[in-house]
Amino acid sequence: MLIDTHSHVYLSEFKEDRIEMIERAIEEGVDKILLPNIDASTIKDLDSLCLADKRTFRGMMGLHPGSVKSSFKEDLSLIKESLFNGNYCAVGEIGIDLYWDKSFIKEQIIAFTTQIEWALELDLPIAIHARDSFNEIFEAMSPYKGSALKGVFHCFTGGAPELKEALSFDNFMLGIGGVLTFKNSGLDKTIAEAPLDRLVLETDSPYLAPVPYRGKRNEPSYIRLIAEKLAIVKGESIVSIERITSANAMDLFNIRMDD
Ligand SMILES: [Zn+2]
Repeated sequence: MLIDTHSHVYLSEFKEDRIEMIERAIEEGVDKILLPNIDASTIKDLDSLCLADKRTFRGMMGLHPGSVKSSFKEDLSLIKESLFNGNYCAVGEIGIDLYWDKSFIKEQIIAFTTQIEWALELDLPIAIHARDSFNEIFEAMSPYKGSALKGVFHCFTGGAPELKEALSFDNFMLGIGGVLTFKNSGLDKTIAEAPLDRLVLETDSPYLAPVPYRGKRNEPSYIRLIAEKLAIVKGESIVSIERITSANAMDLFNIRMDD
């Protein structure tokens, strides 16, 4: 049994074959798929997918750092309304992204911190998006060290120093995705040093497809390729990788198998 803890399968990339894509995931043993939000424009499609298949999907609600622009306050209030009135398993995805655009860094930090406060208020985990921004992320999170704040560093791709810093936040997991299978990513060496009880699996569909689908559309059924690679990296059986990463995800996101 596998849990895809980060998947945007409500996006239009899946509109032609959404049902078949979900069937393929179930055939590969994927039991739950968690859906992080992007911005106000994606709430409706995310909510309807959760409603259409309550057994498989769990939604998250948050404003993605890539969508933080000058109008971010209005966007945040729409997100807040959904988050506080809905039934979501996490606040996400949230964070800081300085890869594409650094001009809204101040706004990104404010949006990140605001949403961290909501997560604490609702006792929900956060799903963190960090791109070219580990220092800024760790700095924004430093006041919360030792607090009840919990979550996942989604698509973790850091090196040894970032691993150490991320793991120093006790209630946090690392989300391991397709990058682990990329040749020369070096992530296998970093993750070899990470305790298995701090790892969860994710695809980040439709992005970052694992080898041999690298560059193509990603989908949740490919999570088995990531689990297989992690089994090799950790010298564990695929069965224990499935069991441990699923237990970690269920614990963090408060998911029960029978619902
Ligand atoms: Zn994402």
